[in-house]
Amino acid sequence: MSVAHAHSSLPPVERVRPGLWSVPVPIPQSSLRYVFVYVFETDTGPYIVDTGWDTDDAFAALSAGLEHVGTSVADVQGILVTHIHPDHYGLAGRVREASGAWIALHPADAALIADRYDEPTDLLERVGAMLRRQGAPPDELEGLRNAAMPLRPFVGTVQPDVLVEDGERPDVPGWDLSAIWTPGHSPGHLCFWEPRHKVMLSGDHVLPRITPNISLHPQAGPDPLNDFLASLHKLEGYGADEVLPAHEHRFVGLDERIAELLAHHEQRFLEVLTSISEGTDTAWGIAERMRWSRPWERIEGFMRRAAVGEAMAHLRTLESRGLIREVIGEPSTWERIEV
Ligand SMILES: [Zn+2]
Ligand SMILES: [Zn+2]
Repeated sequence: MSVAHAHSSLPPVERVRPGLWSVPVPIPQSSLRYVFVYVFETDTGPYIVDTGWDTDDAFAALSAGLEHVGTSVADVQGILVTHIHPDHYGLAGRVREASGAWIALHPADAALIADRYDEPTDLLERVGAMLRRQGAPPDELEGLRNAAMPLRPFVGTVQPDVLVEDGERPDVPGWDLSAIWTPGHSPGHLCFWEPRHKVMLSGDHVLPRITPNISLHPQAGPDPLNDFLASLHKLEGYGADEVLPAHEHRFVGLDERIAELLAHHEQRFLEVLTSISEGTDTAWGIAERMRWSRPWERIEGFMRRAAVGEAMAHLRTLESRGLIREVIGEPSTWERIEV
């Protein structure tokens, strides 16, 4: 797909509420196509939520979007980042360089930066060990271990200036934003609630159509899916008029969407338990048997690793629910606990 083509498929810059805009920023070679940067106008200049990848294209799209809104990258005062993934955090350093804006991130994601982006060799070792334990075939190990490396150039490795904890109100003049810590998709994922307009900025935590990838990963903590499910409950009952996600499109019905996501994962748990009962007992084998949006043979590279990570995340949660146990080995196998 050509770059020009990718641009033509972007949604327009839109005014979401008076003084609040959404600016789609293209993501290269991704089925997600774009990330929404949300722009809050203030008397002193714009504050933005998320940034896009560190590419010239993304920077140009963000710059053009801010011009459209009547401001510029140089005027940005603050950058709130929902989480550390490249499509959200990647461009933050460049925007800060162009503007002097502060960058804010949750401490749990800030803590991962060096490990993830500056010195990834040790992390790659741990990813490799994890894949072996999950039962990855030897001929796929090397490729899968390095599957995320092509993403490195798209992230400027910068440290945030401000750490935002659960419940804190980032300093965005004239707006009443508060941060909600929603670990799961990443350990330091943040959503932002704006009570006057009743809008929920949901990042990648709640998207209207796709389910966010929740993977077990050396950086994910012991039970990320359990964290994610708790973080879904945490967003219930806000009475949001509209949800402003980082991908796809804005939507109404936050509580309904949360209920769907919770039900989806319960369905997944059943799939995993059934696989184990029927004798498929490695994480790899279970991932192969799970239902995905495309056939297993066509899930490759980073996608395949994410799929196995997702199977693993379900296994860990079932383990903490006391329903299965791991028989540790290379690979580990899983068995049901009879109750
Ligand atoms: Zn993400
Ligand atoms: Zn994303």
